[in-house]
Amino acid sequence: MSVKAKSILRNKFGYNEFRDLQQDIINNVLKKKDTLVIMPTGGGKSLCYQIPALIFEGLTVVISPLISLMKDQVEQLKELNVDALFLNSTLKKKDYKKNVDLVRENKVKLLYVAPETFMTDATQEMLSQVRVDCITVDEAHCVSEWGHDFRPEYMKIATTRDRYPDAVFLALTATATNKVQEDIANSLKLIDYTKFISSFDRDNLFLKVIPKVDPTRQTLDFLKKRRKQPGIIYCFKRKQVETLCEELNAHGYLARPYHAGLADKDRDQSQEMFLKDEVQIIVATIAFGMGINKPNVRFVIHYDLPKSIESYYQEIGRAGRDGLKSDCLLLFSYTDISKFKYLLKRKEESERQIAEKQIDSLVEYLEYQNCRRIPLLKYFGEVYEKTKCGDLCDNCLAQITGEADITEFVYKYLYCVKELNEEHGLGYVANVLRAVKDPKILKNRHDDLKSYGTGKNLQRNQWALVARQLIDTSFMIWDQKKDRLELTPKGTSYLSKQYQITGKLVDEEKKTSDKRPNITESDVFNVLNDVRKEYAEMQGIPSYAVIPEESLHEMARTLPTTKDEFLDIEGLTDFKYKKYGEKFLTMIAKLSKDSKNGGGISDNAPDSTKFMQIGEKYNKGMPIREISDEFDMKYTVVLDNLYHYIQSGGKLHKIDWLAKRILGKEILDKVTDAYDAYGCSDLDKIYKKFNGEIIYDHLKIIRLYYMNEI
Ligand code: ADP
Ligand code: ZN
Repeated sequence: MSVKAKSILRNKFGYNEFRDLQQDIINNVLKKKDTLVIMPTGGGKSLCYQIPALIFEGLTVVISPLISLMKDQVEQLKELNVDALFLNSTLKKKDYKKNVDLVRENKVKLLYVAPETFMTDATQEMLSQVRVDCITVDEAHCVSEWGHDFRPEYMKIATTRDRYPDAVFLALTATATNKVQEDIANSLKLIDYTKFISSFDRDNLFLKVIPKVDPTRQTLDFLKKRRKQPGIIYCFKRKQVETLCEELNAHGYLARPYHAGLADKDRDQSQEMFLKDEVQIIVATIAFGMGINKPNVRFVIHYDLPKSIESYYQEIGRAGRDGLKSDCLLLFSYTDISKFKYLLKRKEESERQIAEKQIDSLVEYLEYQNCRRIPLLKYFGEVYEKTKCGDLCDNCLAQITGEADITEFVYKYLYCVKELNEEHGLGYVANVLRAVKDPKILKNRHDDLKSYGTGKNLQRNQWALVARQLIDTSFMIWDQKKDRLELTPKGTSYLSKQYQITGKLVDEEKKTSDKRPNITESDVFNVLNDVRKEYAEMQGIPSYAVIPEESLHEMARTLPTTKDEFLDIEGLTDFKYKKYGEKFLTMIAKLSKDSKNGGGISDNAPDSTKFMQIGEKYNKGMPIREISDEFDMKYTVVLDNLYHYIQSGGKLHKIDWLAKRILGKEILDKVTDAYDAYGCSDLDKIYKKFNGEIIYDHLKIIRLYYMNEI
């Protein structure tokens, strides 16, 4: 039997291997033994009944409380050429009847029904006419009053049990507590059943907690690198949802609100648009629950605190159901906790105590210094068998990226800025700290300051890195117009009350080379994604139902050129090939051709043979204008070549003279400070920082000067 299951896994669903427990569960069900499955969201519960359904001769009924999910599941199954249908109150009379007829004619393998629909006499009568091999109760915790989503109709399911002597009962849930598990077994009258509990560790979720300082800006920063990725942001209050949504839209993100104050129609629309990738971000109150079953949610942000670890786990659980790496960010503030506790004052004693306990466990998790999976899983009664998750939580990652305790440096830096009356820029501060005998420092008598010479143990570029982190985390701001650093209230208060801060002292980004391939994998992904979206829109189904997320990524990685190569990709079947294969292969062929013709994103790529000659000519005293004429090359391209010359280890002799002469010391200081703070590989960014006031060529000249000095 398991051979058959495996072949269905491969040929129908396009996956190579079963995940943890799936195979055992399927075998158990095929033996017609009652089964209780506890598996976290995204763990792969659906296959546990979908595969047996395709093996059983008769019908598999799936009772599911969520009408929107039902439709979604059935759409996906149809896309895999599986005979699945649903019956619920949203169907038009005509369609409802058509579906009933199909069931009666034994043309259906999987029938999804709402519990209310299942319990009607008409449904029971219909089912008595066919052979039912399996009754699956999805979201089985709805049967328990202890669960978070009690549905009275679920209690009645067991009363029908005698009518289906051939049917095995399979109950599935993602709720872990023992009490709920017992309730499920009792209420559904499971007979001599086997319980399968899979680990609650979601090993594709990156867990990160940061202090909440300027939440909107922190959110925007986080989103910058995720321009096109779907995600959910949880806020505590409706009002906050609305304002954040507006803010995001103002910054060019397509975001929609979702909270209890909206009309059903608007909420459904938000959800539908999100499923179909017509809107990128849903901003929701924490009350917003289970209606979303989108596999490719790439991030979840907790703008405000969740109310317990359990809710946190549920909410982050909506990310990465497709198994791809996804990010979970939580903005943590002690003020939020006090507010929360204050609100609890009005509650009844017993309720308040439970809620307070929950908050305390949450805080313990948030303050935890080692692998976050340890307290998280412990909460669910699971012992994490490793001591570290590797690089999947902020704490573990910090250990491998060499983050250090920078408390001392943070203090020294902020103190120095303060001592300088917040009137100077990054380079100046670093010089004071390192006791450089700069004429300006001496003239200002700043060698008399306490700070002078307190930072000799770090290099200039390390101080720059400390400064950059302090700006990024809002301890200070840098007014680039006046080239001066100013402390924020957070920075000022840090001087009177220090706490431990970890950060970097080695710049990872600068180590990586600037060279970019002509067309990157993510460019390819975006193009293929557009093709996929077109198909999805044509059929009115979500993108991931057309081609699963992971499969599309793999396509972008492996660039298949033949049918076989296409089918080698996980999640792609013959059926998919027939429907979409050719179009994707043609598109990939076209992309490869464009790439060879030098299309794509690289600009002013230095000519590998010329930059050496150009560097040498410059060093022999030839002015840039003349080099430009001699090589028939734009001025700006000559600058790019000189940059490449320096990057390859060359030195330019007179560039400081040129830079000072053309630009003057003041601008030079300003821009080098900016390079200190943001690096100099992305000139667009620097250009924007100065609101376009400094032209690119000047930025490039200063970059040469800067690189040459360092
Ligand atoms: P759950 O119902 O437990 O939340 P799903 O059944 O929706 O999870 O599965 C989550 C995702 O994992 C889906 O995109 C599904 O296609 C994928 N998946 C499930 N089993 C496998 C497998 N054996 N190999 C690869 N992907 C799988
Ligand atoms: Zn970890």
